[in-house]
Amino acid sequence: MKVAVIGAGIVGMTSALRIMEEVAHAHGEIDLTVISEKFCPDNTSYGAGGIWKPPSEEHMTKAELRWLQWSFDYLTSMLWTDYAHELGIFLQSGYYVHMENVPDPAWKDIVVGFRYLTAWELNNLFPGNKHGWFYTAFICQPRDFLPWAHARLTEKGAGFVQRRVQSLQELAPHYDVIVNCTGLGSKYLVQDDALFPARGQVMRVKAPWIRYFVGTSGPHPTIKGNPYIYSNLHDVVIGGIKQEGNYRETNDPRDTRTIWEGVLALHPQLKGAEVVEEWTGLRPMRKGGIRLEREKLVDSKSGRRFDVIHNYGHGANGVTWSHGCAREVAEIVKVIMAEKVTTSRL
Ligand SMILES: Cc1cc2nc3c(=O)[nH]c(=O)nc-3n(C[C@H](O)[C@H](O)[C@H](O)COP(=O)(O)OP(=O)(O)OC[C@H]3O[C@@H](n4cnc5c(N)ncnc54)[C@H](O)[C@@H]3O)c2cc1C
Repeated sequence: MKVAVIGAGIVGMTSALRIMEEVAHAHGEIDLTVISEKFCPDNTSYGAGGIWKPPSEEHMTKAELRWLQWSFDYLTSMLWTDYAHELGIFLQSGYYVHMENVPDPAWKDIVVGFRYLTAWELNNLFPGNKHGWFYTAFICQPRDFLPWAHARLTEKGAGFVQRRVQSLQELAPHYDVIVNCTGLGSKYLVQDDALFPARGQVMRVKAPWIRYFVGTSGPHPTIKGNPYIYSNLHDVVIGGIKQEGNYRETNDPRDTRTIWEGVLALHPQLKGAEVVEEWTGLRPMRKGGIRLEREKLVDSKSGRRFDVIHNYGHGANGVTWSHGCAREVAEIVKVIMAEKVTTSRL
């Protein structure tokens, strides 16, 4: 079966990997090509901090919780390899602090050791905040994971083509299944008007004494915005910029100042940390959440049927969702393969 995955961000690469690792051979031969206008380091996924942190919602659908659990399970399974650190996958504990009392997040039983902050932690570490969570989750650094995934897919026989796809119909004569992982690109590729960008800007600093994550929510009387701190293997990611509707893809010195001021007010011990990088990216937000579903289409020229699996719109948390959504994609591909076998026997 011929499969095209459009998009080489974290969502496309994890989908391609899962198809090649779980569906190919066990369920039949798969000839898979990843087609993407841009590859790492030129896409959004490359610059993400890589923390496993879903949206803080109290309620999620069964499917969303399944994807999150599968994602956590995948990262846990990687801990049993001797190469997880090479792909930037490792456990990280940390704090998420709130200015108001907030309900528990729907995923509190997926992460490890979820608990509320003690009075000592709130008073001494995060003064002014009313409530907070501490738990252990993962970092998956896309800048390490994406090159590894590329090499692994190449080893498994997948092909890579760099180009922009103008329409799904353009690929229809050549593929049985098209997996659409184009993120914000789906606004144009499949005219999805629910998609919009949320611009983010982050800095990377040298601060090896920071070994945990800190996230914040709610308006603080003295701290501007919602700064965050994630420790990566070689540096610490600091940020807090989220501008909906802004398409600017270059760094803005005003945002640099906002990040620094916010992070230093939150964590003065970062003062003097050497800045090694600044980066801007557009989060693929979608009203109504992630679109992960199968669509059956017909090639307008030949009348032949083909399947599309949409997997886009992962917003501010695409690294978090990606591994679980990739498994869902692989499950759908298995169903399509089984249907093809049945049809060919009729
Ligand atoms: C500052 C910042 C920090 C973040 N930190 C985190 C974090 O710590 N944890 C987390 O979970 N998430 C984080 N995110 C969110 C995360 O980066 C995104 O949700 C994720 O990268 C989306 O992945 P994607 O593969 O869908 O999109 P992308 O990485 O944008 O990939 C889409 C790919 O599709 C290709 N494409 C698009 N249209 C076409 C077309 N027509 N033809 C061919 N190719 C096409 C593009 O070239 C691109 O390669 C962060 C985002 C930002 C901006």
